[in-house]
Amino acid sequence: MEHLHESEKGYLHSVLSQNCPRCRKGKLFAHGPYHLRKFFLMNDSCSCCGQTFHLEPSFYDGAMYVSYAIQVALFVTVFVALSVLHPQAGLAWHIGGITSLVIVFSPMTYRLSRSLWIHFFVKYNRDAKVKCSHE
Ligand SMILES: [Zn+2]
Repeated sequence: MEHLHESEKGYLHSVLSQNCPRCRKGKLFAHGPYHLRKFFLMNDSCSCCGQTFHLEPSFYDGAMYVSYAIQVALFVTVFVALSVLHPQAGLAWHIGGITSLVIVFSPMTYRLSRSLWIHFFVKYNRDAKVKCSHE
């Protein structure tokens, strides 16, 4: 088995770790997901290959639908799991509990949806000139 170099992350790994879609090394976001005042701030461009993360004005509007889909999927999954595991708990408890869960996870879904969105439009380029400015 050939050892995978750090820059050769798989597609899903790159989406989940919110890396630059082009070189899969740079970071899309400037801060951690639970930096509550700044979790939504993206870098303007990749610090490794220079790929811009703002392809056009309001590029990320479409990511809202992805975020919505992730939240609905999360809601349904947890709802079904709870109904199976705790069928005796009332419906109000289920909905209340899941709603708080969805809110707690919203910084993550927000970031994941944007990461998925830009990965959808920017293709991986293994030959991209990579020189990380923060290294
Ligand atoms: Zn990059």
